[in-house]
Amino acid sequence: MMGSARRTAGIAAGVVASAMLVASLGPIAQADPVVAEQLRAKKPLRGITIALDPGHQLGNSNPAFASKLAQTRFNGTITKGCNTTGTATNSGFPEATFVYKVTRRVKKRLERQGATVKMTRTTNSYQRWGPCVWKRGQFGAKVRADMLLSVHADGGPASGKGFFVIVPGLVPGWTDDIAAKSQRYGKRLIEGMAKAGATRSTYISGQTLVWNDVTTLNFSDVPAVLVEVGNMRNAEEARLMRTRQGQNDYAAWLVAGVKAAVRR
Ligand SMILES: [Zn+2]
Repeated sequence: MMGSARRTAGIAAGVVASAMLVASLGPIAQADPVVAEQLRAKKPLRGITIALDPGHQLGNSNPAFASKLAQTRFNGTITKGCNTTGTATNSGFPEATFVYKVTRRVKKRLERQGATVKMTRTTNSYQRWGPCVWKRGQFGAKVRADMLLSVHADGGPASGKGFFVIVPGLVPGWTDDIAAKSQRYGKRLIEGMAKAGATRSTYISGQTLVWNDVTTLNFSDVPAVLVEVGNMRNAEEARLMRTRQGQNDYAAWLVAGVKAAVRR
């Protein structure tokens, strides 16, 4: 039989427990599987590290840095340059700026869900260049990321729209360690993004290219996916890319893709 005194004590303990919950979620979550579950639901990416790589840099088009950008390195398949200017909308809105804005939003959103997020560049300035694509590729392992996501926008045929991914093929001595997993992550990223509302590419079949000569991907030692989030030469997508709302949409789609890719 449970006396009223014990019931009251039970309620009081409950009140204390919720107060403590607010004060310190950590220890209680460890002790209480229900709370731990609620925490996981709120921070589903806790323990996950994502390396985000906003493609290019605004200053890559600055002639002052021409010699820096002319550096080359062999990537396992061919020798390529340090970096490029990237594409732009017909009205001149640069890819470097667009992907930087989107990637910063992606970072915030992922962090809110518990992930640790590191970026290959933290500026978007005409006075800065690079980093070179091989550094971007190496960055994932450097920060012990679970995944490297390189974010770009395409300069495709004006009639085409939608997103697609580029994943590394098997390059012996280079991508043996990551090719299969990168391709799996790419597949999941596509499904996650599409489910969240992103438009699938109308000009890349299966929204996937498996390429052996992308320096960023070949230099990576963690699963790596390059995503072309849309086509800057398509008028409809260019309009979306320039607006705050559009940039938020692209960020939300990428976050959904990342979550699908790294799910355990
Ligand atoms: Zn690009």
